[in-house]
Amino acid sequence: MKQPVTVLGLGSMGSALAGALLDHGHPVTVWNRTAEKAAPLTRRGARLAATPAEAIAASPLVVACVLDYRVLRAVVEPESLRGKDFVNLTSGSPEQAAEAAEWFGAGYLDGAIMTTPEGVGSAEVMVLYSGPRPVFDAHAPALAALGDPVYLGEDPGRASLYDAALLGLMWSAMAGWLHGTALVGAEKTTATEFTPVAIRWLGTVNRFLTRYAEQVDEGRYPGDDATVDVQIAAIGHLIHAAGARGVDNALPELLRGMMERASAAGHGADSFASLVEVFAGRVAAR
Ligand code: NDP
Repeated sequence: MKQPVTVLGLGSMGSALAGALLDHGHPVTVWNRTAEKAAPLTRRGARLAATPAEAIAASPLVVACVLDYRVLRAVVEPESLRGKDFVNLTSGSPEQAAEAAEWFGAGYLDGAIMTTPEGVGSAEVMVLYSGPRPVFDAHAPALAALGDPVYLGEDPGRASLYDAALLGLMWSAMAGWLHGTALVGAEKTTATEFTPVAIRWLGTVNRFLTRYAEQVDEGRYPGDDATVDVQIAAIGHLIHAAGARGVDNALPELLRGMMERASAAGHGADSFASLVEVFAGRVAAR
């Protein structure tokens, strides 16, 4: 028999997590403040517990996904987790994860789900974990039902730290794509025409990141491909083209300002990777 798992919290995400565990044949016990939300899962064989403590008692592995850490602490009594392993997939800050590790004890693993609910269960989707390695190793086979489990280290805050960094990357990438979509859209190009070209371009951008990561780690940014000053000129063309078509330029103006700060600090002949000096707070604000 597969490992029994308890899921606390059946909002959009918790329901998807419980559903993925059922898909993989795990006996699943669920609890939710609003019990009616369990109906689609109990129809598929999940057992509904009347209280969080009853749900926790049913399985050696407990997964929680509620609104926030305040709710988590209100719902889960540390005493009820004695002898259990506890995986918290509620979103929060690295500091909240560290506090939760203290509060809930040795079996606590913090996690971050890098998808929306419909992606849960796909092997292409990452679920990030940090906390005690033996807890991760013991449950990796069950956690694989939720998505590809990626272990980031013992520090319980690491998954939340990566989550925040990766969401920042996502917003910047999606905002750049939407700005470009608005620009080409001003010339009657549809988003569905533009997007395959944009996605192919992201493949090239991937390779830039790999090269620049080494430069960032070494603190040396040889501008042997495209310098910051060349890119300041290039972003001027974007701002001109977009402004002439009535497209809002707040995003590229922000980026140009950061490039100009890097250049003023002596990085004009360096690569774009030198902007990390601005982001890391090592270049004075203007
Ligand atoms: P929902 O709003 O759909 O669900 C919230 C859950 O928290 C429900 O189970 C709700 O119970 C419970 N809850 C809220 N307040 C209380 C309370 N006072 N006491 C007890 N239970 C409470 O949110 P999601 O499922 O979308 O998100 C849950 C977590 O997952 C969040 O931390 C979110 O950031 C994270 N997450 C969500 C993603 C997404 O795409 N949705 C992606 C990645 C992470 P009830 O049903 O009774 O209201």
